[in-house]
Amino acid sequence: MKNDINDMPEPFGRVTHTADEWVMARIVQKFGGTSVGDVDRIKNVALKVKAEVDRGNEVAVVLSAMSGETNRLVDLVSQMAPLYDAREYDVVVATGEQVTVGLLALALQDLGVSARSWLGWQIAIETDDVHGKARIENIVADELVKRMASGEVPVVAGFQGVAPNHRITTLGRGGSDTSAVALAAAVGADRCDIYTDVDGVYTTDPRIVSKARKIDRITYEEMLEMASLGAKVLQTRAVEMAMKTGQRIQVLSSFEDKPGTLVVDEDEIVEKELVSGIAYSRDEAKITLVRVSDKPGVAAAIFGPLSDANVNVDMIVQNRSVGGDATDMTFTVAQDDLDRAVETIENLSADIGYEKLLSDANVVKVSVVGVGMRSHAGVAQRMFAALAEKGINIQVISTSEIKVSVLIDEEYTELALRALHTAYGLDAT
Ligand code: ASP
Ligand code: MG
Repeated sequence: MKNDINDMPEPFGRVTHTADEWVMARIVQKFGGTSVGDVDRIKNVALKVKAEVDRGNEVAVVLSAMSGETNRLVDLVSQMAPLYDAREYDVVVATGEQVTVGLLALALQDLGVSARSWLGWQIAIETDDVHGKARIENIVADELVKRMASGEVPVVAGFQGVAPNHRITTLGRGGSDTSAVALAAAVGADRCDIYTDVDGVYTTDPRIVSKARKIDRITYEEMLEMASLGAKVLQTRAVEMAMKTGQRIQVLSSFEDKPGTLVVDEDEIVEKELVSGIAYSRDEAKITLVRVSDKPGVAAAIFGPLSDANVNVDMIVQNRSVGGDATDMTFTVAQDDLDRAVETIENLSADIGYEKLLSDANVVKVSVVGVGMRSHAGVAQRMFAALAEKGINIQVISTSEIKVSVLIDEEYTELALRALHTAYGLDAT
């Protein structure tokens, strides 16, 4: 059963039904590490689950490990074997979620709610065999659906699954978001509520821009850009999965009782903002090759070996000096990859032939994101003007259908975010 968005029960707060026109919904609730950080918080989670059950909804829950626990387990593995066997890493780090699902099942039973814990292999959540960052391939949902219909709440361990050869796998850090979305899609949930320690997705980082606003609705595509550009509320893979399956997500706080941000399909958003949000990433570094000889095959000679060395190149600009036989080539890589990238290029210097290599890690990528851009000109221009007015120099520009990114000196991060937030009319009033 799929409900129209306007028929959603609280906490969406759109339409409130009277008791006789009640529409039952199937809901997956996911709680992150801070929400299950200790016994009292798990009891609080149990109350949130009970509230949904009491509204007459069918509920399944997905949990993370207690906050800090997965880090602790990863550290134990590294102490035991710095070059660990990924299969045994998964056996160890998957245990954090086993603890929280058992505890929540107990807390629910204590409140008179029928509940049962489930580990990945018991369901089964079938994944590939890429240990440490496995992908979910299938979820056998029939038994869970049956139990939900009978009023039982399955409490499912996030972050884990089972490989074809029956060994335990984990999905990569932050993977329980993906578990929740995949489970929601598998059981045909009307909503996947992701409870976390923030109350939604913001127009930009509220710690930097005090006038940042909570976004009521954002599209999958925008959320994907925001997530991969550094807004850390949702794992990127979870958003991809939601977009692919059309699973509606809500991001909301487990500590406050109010609606969060809905992540939905574009046609569920009537008023499309030109720019929905401004993301930034400090994890960038810039490399410039000065006076590369301008001949066919140069780009391939540079970027081929970088990709072989597992260096992901993001923004690229090439600029040929007029009438010259040489070109300057600037590109960005993740900060952690900078040394590897520089080394790779220096080893190639004889083949490529450039005058010198400059690198700079003090850069930040700032991006404005919005599906409204598709149908409106002038978005980039407004960005350039706002930055120019603050005297901020743009080093590299890149664009896609729904975003414009610029690379600037890291020192101007705050100034740029504030100026852009105002320029696009996003400031809270
Ligand atoms: N507990 C896992 C982690 O810390 C999965 C998650 O929290 O999403 O990465
Ligand atoms: Mg998380």
